[in-house]
Parts: sequence; structure tokens; C-alpha cells
Amino acid sequence: MSQTDFSTLKLQPALLKNLQSIGYAHMTPIQAQSLPHILAGRDVIGQGKTGSGKTAAFGLGLLQKLNVKRFHVQALVLCPTRELADQVAKEIRKLARTIHNIKVLTLCGGMPFGPQLGSLEHGAHIIVGTPGRIEEHVRKGALKLDNLTLLVLDEADRMLEMGFQEALDAIIDQTPQTRQTLLFSATFPRQIESIAGRVMKTPVMVQVEATH
Ligand code: ADP
Ligand code: MG
Repeated sequence: MSQTDFSTLKLQPALLKNLQSIGYAHMTPIQAQSLPHILAGRDVIGQGKTGSGKTAAFGLGLLQKLNVKRFHVQALVLCPTRELADQVAKEIRKLARTIHNIKVLTLCGGMPFGPQLGSLEHGAHIIVGTPGRIEEHVRKGALKLDNLTLLVLDEADRMLEMGFQEALDAIIDQTPQTRQTLLFSATFPRQIESIAGRVMKTPVMVQVEATH
């Protein structure tokens, strides 16, 4: 068994079995470096270029952590665009294939509001979406984040570039202090340091490859 085998991690058997069946034999470098910390419940800041496998790093963390029997929102993944949110939701569903009755819901801007309200009434374990629309659902009381145990800020630098700072702050304000927070970003401008300083607890930094 090599050090980058997923089986070196304390993942539930259903997840390990599924990783084998979808052909994920070894962890990518960012997964190998971040997953032990993520599974230990630490806050993690991860930097890795596109295609390095960041989604499965946080996706396995949240799937391992959540309790399917408790049907309320336990994990929230914020992404800069609808396309990225759809990709992330697709990857999480693929990783979750052997976990029965798990509900992953995407909530993005540019999509009609009404059907999203209907979906929220039916409930979900994991929400993936863009900050503007998520903030709107939180503000209107349709999305409750009191049971959140894990928050992921994916492509955080792009979300800030797109002007989502206020929406992010408003959302994070409604989540429990006890949550675990994971932040992924390709670059680390001062704004990222600042948000990490405000919303994360002694985060572990994991850097796989400089992007420039
Ligand atoms: P990033 O978010 O870092 O840009 P993704 O999470 O989108 O990267 O992953 C890029 C691709 O690599 C996806 O198609 C994903 O299915 C695949 N992938 C991720 N982890 C592994 C792995 N351990 N083994 C094989 N393929 C993987
Ligand atoms: Mg990504």
C-alpha cells in the first residue's frame, strides 16, 4: 500500500469502495496533503492549480463528516459561478454514489427563484451555490444554516474579484461558530488573508504548486 492510497485515510468503507469503482486509485498531491487535516476537523487553506483535484479533497471531507439520517443542511459549498457550482455538485454526487438517500442541492443566480424555494422545502444535506443567491435565500429565511458543520469557500479569490465579499460575510454571519471552514484559492491577495483571518480558526496551509 502506498502513502497516497485512499485506504490510508479513515474514510467510511462505502466511500472507499466507491473511490475504487470510479477509478480513483491514488490521492492527488493536494488531496494527500489536505485530507488528513480535513478529516481531523481542522480549518484548511488550500492552494493548487486547476485540475489538481480540490473538489474531492473537500468533497470527501464533507461526505465523511455528514450524518445522512439528520435531514438538514450540514455542508455549504460556495463557488464563484453557476458552471463551477454545477461541476462541484456533479463531482460530489459521483463521490457519494454509495451513500444512500443523500441530497445535494444547487442554488445559483440566473436560475428561477420559485423552484429553488420548493427544493429547499424538501430539504438537503449539502448545498452548493453562488454567494448572491445563497445570501438571498438566507436573508429571506428559506435557507437555515444553524446546523452547518462544514463551510467551503471554493475559488475564494474569484468570488472576491466578482464582488461577493458582502454576500460572503452575510452568509458566514448566519453559520455556527463551531463549523469547520475550508478555503481554496489559486492566489493569495491581501483580501484572502483578511477573510481567512476573520472566518477561520488557526488554519493549516496546504500549497501544492505555485500558480505563477
Ligand atoms: P480542481 O478543483 O482542483 O480544479 P477538480 O476537483 O475539478 O480540480 O478535479 C479535476 C479532475 O480530476 C476531475 O475530473 C476529477 O474527477 C479528477 N480527479 C480528482 N481526484 C482524482 C483522483 N484521486 N484520481 C483520479 N482522478 C481524480
Ligand atoms: Mg475546483
